[in-house]
Amino acid sequence: MVEHIKRDRGDLFGWPVIGFLLKNPAFLFALKTAVLLLFVYAVVYGIVDPGKENLFTTALFWGLFWPLFMVLSLGSFGRLFCGICPHGFLGKYITRFGLKKKMPKPLQNPLIGVVVLVIGWWAVYYAYPGFFKSPYATALLFVVMTAVAALFYFLYADMAYCKSICPIGAVSRGFSKISSAQLATYKSSCGDCRSFECASACPQNLKPFTFNGRNSMTDCTLCMDCAGACEAVSFKLQPPSAPLFKKFAYHKAEVWAFILITAAISISMSFHHALGRSAIVEEFFWVKTARYAQSLFDFGTADAVGISAFLYAVVISVALAVGGMFIAAKILKRPYEQTFYTLGYAFAPLFIIGGLSHLLESFFLHTASDIANGFIQGFALPFGTVEPLATRKDAWLHIFGIFNHLAGVWALVILFGRMRLVEASKLRKTLAYPFAAALILLYIGLNLYKGYVFKTYGVNRGGHGQHRSQTMQHPADGGMVKPTSSAERVVITRHAS
Ligand code: SF4
Ligand code: SF4
Repeated sequence: MVEHIKRDRGDLFGWPVIGFLLKNPAFLFALKTAVLLLFVYAVVYGIVDPGKENLFTTALFWGLFWPLFMVLSLGSFGRLFCGICPHGFLGKYITRFGLKKKMPKPLQNPLIGVVVLVIGWWAVYYAYPGFFKSPYATALLFVVMTAVAALFYFLYADMAYCKSICPIGAVSRGFSKISSAQLATYKSSCGDCRSFECASACPQNLKPFTFNGRNSMTDCTLCMDCAGACEAVSFKLQPPSAPLFKKFAYHKAEVWAFILITAAISISMSFHHALGRSAIVEEFFWVKTARYAQSLFDFGTADAVGISAFLYAVVISVALAVGGMFIAAKILKRPYEQTFYTLGYAFAPLFIIGGLSHLLESFFLHTASDIANGFIQGFALPFGTVEPLATRKDAWLHIFGIFNHLAGVWALVILFGRMRLVEASKLRKTLAYPFAAALILLYIGLNLYKGYVFKTYGVNRGGHGQHRSQTMQHPADGGMVKPTSSAERVVITRHAS
């Protein structure tokens, strides 16, 4: 065990206050306990007060935890969310007293968590947008997730739930490679070590002294237990996405998480939420398909357009990623699987950086006030209602759109860097590049197209989400009207402006 070490300047553990807090077991225990209590309180609050007047439960889960803290921290410092996660915190103790069995092979696949997230959450979200949003449903969802997590922690060793089943763990492992911080150890100190306190302290049974050599933190959840056990553990700042420019053993689930999350969130939302607000909404193929399906089947309360947009987004994204990489592999004369999983890491920024655009805009439009009002209600604080920090009329909100473009450019840069890891001639790499980038080019093209559509045709006066119904509330008419043709909508929009 190393007791003193001269830390590099970029090592956050050496910084005043931050370093002290991150390495202080008492502080971390208090912080994790506070988050756990907040979690339990919000769940109980959701069950006791299940109606829409309960602002606290939804504000905590769907405002503060996810997406605000999760997306902001994942892209910058990595899996800090896991570091304070109540499930991970409880799991450490449950697993200690559990049966410590080996997880059955079929359950050891982290793709399980990715599929649970994409189907169990996002598909349901587009079909029934309000399904998980009520305080009661939110509370119930987290009760079920906690019960499942506790069962897995009890049955299986090494925090198996975090490694394969948890939907957040499945995606955050890959996305954390974008971040600007890495946990590892000082090689010079670890050379003579025979006690391996860092590994003994790790609830995941990981070996932090191998992270540097592997260029990967594997399943590390940044719980910081190892940092409290040995001074040789470091948490250093690094250039953004640094690991992605070097070799590491690829993890299939990570690349699939990038593709499916980009499809389920970035592309689906561009179709359904962004272009769904344009004046030519009825002209898009996913809307036309939904209208046709509605003429054949009764969708009840389900959002046919949402389902259609989601399915198209997933099929198109997967087809472009797989097809593009297949052609690239042929041009490069390299095995398909190796090409797909080596170059597929370039898709990482699309959601985690591009998502900042929507996240920050929403923060000013409603998330900040939702969280403030939720806490005022939840803890009976003596403050009045907090108003949103901005409205859709505030032009400065568009500045956050820069993250959409940044994500596309950064993905192309990473793809360029990862092409260097493939053995092929320069000519072959140049020819293969646009095919390997097919999904990235879709993402960039879609962002440019959104700008073109709104500039040319304007916003649908029926407002966001009007396409859920065959008829719409037209504010100017004060009643229900049949949707007009796109040409008529354009005239209406231009007339209005
Ligand atoms: S992997 Fe899931 S359960 Fe484990 S710490 Fe992260 S968020 Fe929590
Ligand atoms: S390597 Fe360290 S920070 Fe990561 S999970 Fe293990 S003990 Fe926690």
